[in-house]
Amino acid sequence: MRCQLCGEVAVISMPQHRLKLCEEHFPAWVERRVARTIESFRMFSPDDRLLVAVSGGKDSLALWEILLRLGYQADGVYIHLGIDHEGYSDRSQSYAEAYAETHPEATLHVVNVRERYGRSVPELALEGGRKTCSRCGMIKRYLMNRMAREGDYAAIVTGHNLDDEAAQLLQNNLYWLRGYLQRQAPVLPQTHPGLARKAKPLCLVAERESAAYTLVRGIEYIQQECPHSVGATSIFHKHILNDLERRSPGTKLQFYQGFIRAREDGFLAGTDETPPLEECAQCGQPTSANALCAFCRMLETEEP
Ligand code: AMP
Ligand code: ZN
Ligand code: ZN
Repeated sequence: MRCQLCGEVAVISMPQHRLKLCEEHFPAWVERRVARTIESFRMFSPDDRLLVAVSGGKDSLALWEILLRLGYQADGVYIHLGIDHEGYSDRSQSYAEAYAETHPEATLHVVNVRERYGRSVPELALEGGRKTCSRCGMIKRYLMNRMAREGDYAAIVTGHNLDDEAAQLLQNNLYWLRGYLQRQAPVLPQTHPGLARKAKPLCLVAERESAAYTLVRGIEYIQQECPHSVGATSIFHKHILNDLERRSPGTKLQFYQGFIRAREDGFLAGTDETPPLEECAQCGQPTSANALCAFCRMLETEEP
């Protein structure tokens, strides 16, 4: 297998792009693709300060690397969720820290949920009788937004890749979750002074491509999946999409890009179900709830 640009040994074949590339041309191709994604969706501008949500996994570390290589000023935030099974949170943190140590131009902020709020995410979920993953999502979104606003960052960027987005889209379509469809976008602008702009620059990069990118660039990441994600519907949906992709390369990209184009053409106009936002009486963060936001309600009603 040979690189189509230089004839050297290819490290990856991407049937959906009809492209095989070597260890030099492949990472450069990924970086260009991300740069074009950022520009075409007007995610942010070259002098914006960015906050990368870093989980210690391959996607967010690849994203951090790409943004720094593209010349962005990008700091990171790691949220320690207190998931102790096989040292998951501690180990994830050490991968994020190891990366940051070799990149002195960037700062890694760490938020430790247990140290700050007295209980871990699984404990908070258990107390509230909620599913760990949904609680975890709410807590991460809250803390990411808060860190971005407090640090005066122009945007929070996450490592969601094409596989994540396509699986989310499938889920949203299966159940016709209109509000979620409306809010599923490569970039969400700041709709309230207290709400940070959010962007997903890897949304057109497949999981397999981001894994290959970290390998070629020599980035070490946590390979262990979150113990709570075992059996998650999203993983099942990713398998289904991979089956489709094997049969017809390009399906995933077509599914997601077609949706984004339709969305931009106003296909979802009039389905916006987001209620007006007010400020939480406790923490001041924007919320659609009366008085307290979901995060403060959780802390208030679920005392240790
Ligand atoms: P996931 O929902 O685990 O697939 O993660 C999606 C994205 O959310 C990742 O690519 C990261 O950008 C971000 N993220 C997930 N977990 C964390 C964490 N513990 N700390 C900071 N960012 C995270
Ligand atoms: Zn080449
Ligand atoms: Zn609040």
